[in-house]
Amino acid sequence: MNILQNKIVIAIDGFSSCGKSTFAKKIARKYSYTYVDSGAMYRAVTLSCIRHNIIDNGTVDLVKLNGILNNIDIDFEYDNKGNQITKLNGENVENEIRSITVSSRVSIISSIGSVREKLVKLQQGFGVKKGIVMDGRDIGTAVFPDAKLKIFMTADPKVRAKRRYDELIAKGDNVNYDDIEENIISRDHLDQTRDISPLAKADDAITLDNTYMLPEDQVIWLEEIINKL
Ligand code: C5P
Repeated sequence: MNILQNKIVIAIDGFSSCGKSTFAKKIARKYSYTYVDSGAMYRAVTLSCIRHNIIDNGTVDLVKLNGILNNIDIDFEYDNKGNQITKLNGENVENEIRSITVSSRVSIISSIGSVREKLVKLQQGFGVKKGIVMDGRDIGTAVFPDAKLKIFMTADPKVRAKRRYDELIAKGDNVNYDDIEENIISRDHLDQTRDISPLAKADDAITLDNTYMLPEDQVIWLEEIINKL
């Protein structure tokens, strides 16, 4: 018997492109948990802002943003492999929210208080059922400060950029490695230095540095940890 058999809330936070979602999905599959990618929710709001011309050259029209926030509905569906599909007002936006255009603006939108307030409430709603594994930047510090298991993920920025580059190229996207590395470094900086719920390791989180680890090694690492708890 390990603590995951009790359907707890697992909070996974960490830097951009650390493999948080790959790790979280593996845990969800293995222990029959529901996986929630909170970053997808910030990405969906950002996409809506781009479509409504609310963000221009790093400047956000807060009046317009607060006007559309109430009408933004974000939901998830899961395909038969357990992959999460993000829906923005019923539309499948899973691919579009991963574009470099959204990635380069999301940290500006996620630093805005009204956006965080709305999304944190939605995320806490998912936690009511328990048996969830959620990844993000503030899950262990702000969304679920009482989560029974908190993991903070990190890896060398160059390794992270290479992984993200390979992933986007495999999907057929025409991307440039330097743009990806720059985006990762700038998002980490903005996420760590924003005023509201900055990216930070919760005091009771366990650090996982996966620079030299394969996804399978990380599951073995987790099993060793939970067997000791
Ligand atoms: O996890 P992902 O890289 O998709 O997250 C995109 C962005 O959303 C992050 O860079 C961060 O600005 C924001 N985010 C956040 N809080 C979360 C999850 C994501 O601020 N819990």
